[in-house]
Amino acid sequence: MGSYSIAALPGDGIGPEITDVALRVLDRAAADLPALSVSVESHDAGAERWRRTGTAMTDETFQACEAADAILMGAIGLPDARHPDGREVNGDVIFRLRFALDLFAGIRPVRSLPGVPTALAGSAPVDYVVVRENVEGLYASRTGGTNVRGEVATDTIVITAKGTRKVAEMAFDLAERRNGRPLDGRRMVTCVDKANVLSSYAFFRSVFDEVADERRGVEREHVYVDAMTAFQVQRPDHFDVVVAENMFGDIISDLAAATVGGLGLAASADVGYEHGMFQPAHGSAPDIAGRDLANPAAMVLSTAMMLDWLARRHDDRAAAEAAARIDAATLRVLAKGEAVTPDLGGSASCSAMGDAIVAELAETA
Ligand code: ATP
Ligand code: MG
Repeated sequence: MGSYSIAALPGDGIGPEITDVALRVLDRAAADLPALSVSVESHDAGAERWRRTGTAMTDETFQACEAADAILMGAIGLPDARHPDGREVNGDVIFRLRFALDLFAGIRPVRSLPGVPTALAGSAPVDYVVVRENVEGLYASRTGGTNVRGEVATDTIVITAKGTRKVAEMAFDLAERRNGRPLDGRRMVTCVDKANVLSSYAFFRSVFDEVADERRGVEREHVYVDAMTAFQVQRPDHFDVVVAENMFGDIISDLAAATVGGLGLAASADVGYEHGMFQPAHGSAPDIAGRDLANPAAMVLSTAMMLDWLARRHDDRAAAEAAARIDAATLRVLAKGEAVTPDLGGSASCSAMGDAIVAELAETA
């Protein structure tokens, strides 16, 4: 019997509103499955807490996250919450967890959803996953590689063989177990880089190729990042699993989310070998916070990803079923289009859309 402890960090802005929906959905899904039990402990962390107390996340909360089976995060950070040296406060929570728990891969599924208009010309179904290297690359500069001297600023990109191998292997693992492209089921990993210009990216590609050589059942291809952005708009149905360095992965996954319905639908996971943290790809959206307007779908779909990850780690069919049910219930609410939030052209509140997802779950229980 699968019994899991979840550390929830609702966080800032719309974070608490969407987390409330996600926890209600999780509760309902677990209640319907006797073989699944989930206990959630919520912790106060984020920019609001930092403003109030001077600390964004206590060591106790960090330890609770480390000890939990998974971490579920709403949204952390507010626009003006910065330390005197300019660093954003959300790093105290997100980067601390990402680095200390070695959440080296950012997983961002990209799919066209029923009832949701896309920004794309074609009508072929889109279903790919971006795997972003999460702890090195150009953003590693943040931890000391940035230099501003008079009129010159430089940043250092860090690509290690070990880090690249880990994220490439994760991408191939994913390609091996998912269904492949919707139209022909081909399994393929696309390596996105800029190997023609920077030797660091050429190195990333060469390590990727070493891993690809070991994975015979999956095709490989290379695409330069600039071409990639065009392909994501012109022929997104071509992709299956896409792997990229930290900054490139950040950019192409935001673009990907925009092409298939926007940030309110974009789920994401930060995972390593031992730990997993699940949160929507969007931020705390302070412009709509506190008004029950946020789209909870990205958060709910991230919760489904969490259950799916737990299911694989623990070989647990009940958790897999809960994940599939939550995903399906959310897609049905989107397809019906009656109880959807304003960002999707509807007039439902965040909590009402949550009610609709819970009702769909109840119907299929
Ligand atoms: P961060 O720096 O934390 O990533 P951001 O600057 O990218 O934040 P978001 O908070 O993600 O900004 O919001 C960007 C825009 O998308 C805002 O206008 C916001 O209202 C909208 N948005 C984000 N998430 C949602 C959501 N779940 N539902 C509806 N609108 C959203
Ligand atoms: Mg953002």
